[in-house]
Parts: sequence; structure tokens; C-alpha cells
Amino acid sequence: MKIGNVLKTIGALVILVWVADSMMTIWYERPRPDLKSTTQKSVRYAGVIHVHSRYSDGSGTIEQIIRAAHTADLDFLVMTDHSTLQPLIDGYQGYHNDLLVLIGEEVNTSAGHLLALGLDHHVEQQGDEGLSALLDSIDSSAGLAILAHPTGRRPWTAWPVRPVHGIEILNADTAWRDDHPLEWIRVLLFLWFMPEGALNSLIDRPDEAINRWQTLAQQQHLVGIGSVDAHARIPLWGDQSLQFPSYARMFGLLRTYVVLDSALSGAEVPDRQQILDALRNGQCYIAVDGYEKASQFDFEIQVDDTSFNMGSHVVFQQGAQVRVKAPSSGAVLVRLYRNGQEIVEVSAQDIVYDLSEPGVYHAEAYQVRPRLFGSEEARLWIISNPIWVEE
Ligand SMILES: [Zn+2]
Ligand SMILES: [Zn+2]
Repeated sequence: MKIGNVLKTIGALVILVWVADSMMTIWYERPRPDLKSTTQKSVRYAGVIHVHSRYSDGSGTIEQIIRAAHTADLDFLVMTDHSTLQPLIDGYQGYHNDLLVLIGEEVNTSAGHLLALGLDHHVEQQGDEGLSALLDSIDSSAGLAILAHPTGRRPWTAWPVRPVHGIEILNADTAWRDDHPLEWIRVLLFLWFMPEGALNSLIDRPDEAINRWQTLAQQQHLVGIGSVDAHARIPLWGDQSLQFPSYARMFGLLRTYVVLDSALSGAEVPDRQQILDALRNGQCYIAVDGYEKASQFDFEIQVDDTSFNMGSHVVFQQGAQVRVKAPSSGAVLVRLYRNGQEIVEVSAQDIVYDLSEPGVYHAEAYQVRPRLFGSEEARLWIISNPIWVEE
């Protein structure tokens, strides 16, 4: 056989294996059916954080975005257009049927992008030296400052940073840009007939952001936030753009669950405060809901008869136990971390672990999905917020 033919055959085989592997990957990353709901002590609300509309560089009007949020069955929606609170002035904040809309903004600072939530006035950085004044003013106005895509395309450059309440550890927009061109080609091939599986395949564990977060969390109370950073807009040429991926699709993919002790009242002001407080305290977790709804996830520390939820600060005591539950209709892997280091991994939906030392503990859950040649891959599904166990 000529060398050219050998090369052609090898090339054809490689492409064939890649196509087969891609098909399996996307096929097995389809959503699983949702579990029946069970009784839980706390109440969960699912929302999305970091959304752009036509008030800045998103493609949708707020009415369209609200419709998409209804389609995706969201309980709350946090809008963050660039450098404007105009949607607040225009009256969009509040309940739209059973959807609570909160209006914040994404602020351009000298060190990167920052989400400012819970404010009733527009804020911006004054001059190169004004970053700490900006952060102080958000904090003193009882607002929330969250570093946006700190390890992404426009990374945060002023570490360490205070007072900041949260840090985006998962930003869907960044998660995609990180991916290999071959992953993109695979997604574009399969998007039209298996869209959820295709989009799920683009979200990998954001190691760098998690490590950064866990290092900082040993010094300060810092909440991990998952953001969609949805624009529904791929720029083409001039003013032309593609409305993709749609808001509704993004709102089904990556969500934040807040964990509350009691149900929301239906009144805008107290409910908004409850959600912002839960985000500030870290009573929330991130879920790649494109795989399966993670509404029954639990991570707590039990000391004597008291259980402490995500976001708590607990004094270390012998006999204390960590409990993680990640109920799923399929196989799941649960990992427990201390100060960002993995300490336990179980192929089960529950962990009970005896605490032996203080530290910053958080849990992650993975969906176990089959791969080519009988192998399996653990795909990131849930990231909890920490429980701080102190001396
Ligand atoms: Zn940004
Ligand atoms: Zn953004």
C-alpha cells in the first residue's frame, strides 16, 4: 500500500473514532428525568444571576428575558446590565407573576468587572484610585459586590480584595470560551438535535477559579457564585448578531439555588432581601441543572442536635459530622473538600463524614456518565458553598 493511502486510512479512522466518541459524549450528557420532590427542612428557590439585556449588550428586551425565565421555571432572576441601573428606574424590579426580578449592574473597574447587587443607585469607580472607595460604598449601602469572571477573559487583577462578598467561580460564558476548538465543533454538530447534552458538555470544573476562591475563603467569608452571564448574542458583522444561545436555554443550564429556612412571602421587598441575604451569607449552591434538577441537594454539619447549613461558621467540636446528600435518578459521585483539597470521594448519593479538624469545607457532586470503550466520566453537577469550621 502506498504511504498516502496508509495516511488516508489512519486519518479516516481518527475521524471515525472522534465522531463516535462525540456522539456518545453528547448522547450521555442528555438530561436525566427530575426526581419526585421530597420533604426537606429548608426551602429552595432556583434562580439565575448575571444576565444582560438590550439595556447593554444583550439581545433581548427585559420582557423577552422574563418570558424565558418563566419558560425555564425560575423563581428569581438577577439582571446585571453593564454600567446602568436604568431597568430599575424603568420599574422592572419586583414580581412578574411568580418570578422575582432583581436589578443590579455590572460595573467596569480598573481591576476587572464587578457585579453590584441590591443597590438603589448607580455606582462607578472614580479615577484609578477609586476601587476601594467603590467597594466600601457598595458595602456600606448594604449592597453585594461579586467579582465577575475573575479568571476569565477579563480577569480580576487586584487580589486580595475586600470588602467583596462573592466571587464567580463558574461563569457559563467563560466556561465556553475556555474550551478546545474540537469541543466547539462537536457542540455545533450536535446542538440542533441534542441541545442540552451539547451545552452540558461545555461546562467543566473551573479548577483555577475554585482554587482561588478556596484560598481566599480561608481568610474571609467569600461566597462562590455561579453565573450564566447570558447575552443571547453572538456578534457577526456590523450590527448583525445571532440570538444564541437563547436565554431560556441558558436559564435551564446553570442555576443558583438559595436555601431558606422559610418560604418566600410573595411580597417584593422582604423576599428580595431574603434572596440577597442568602447570597451574601452563602446559603446557596451552584448547579448545572442541564443534567438534572439539583433541588434536593443538601450539605450540612451536624453538631450535637443542631445542623448548620451552607454559609455557616461553626466552632470545631469532636463528634461533629458533615452530611452531604445529592439525590439523583442516576449514578452520582460526591466529593468533600477541606481548604480546597479533596478529602473524601464516594460513588454514592450520600456522605457522612466525621470531622477531625477545623477548616473550610465544601462539597461537590458529579454526574457519572458512560464513555467510549466502557469507561465513565464524572461531570460537574453541583458546587456547594462552604461551611467554615473554626478553632
Ligand atoms: Zn463582564
Ligand atoms: Zn456580563
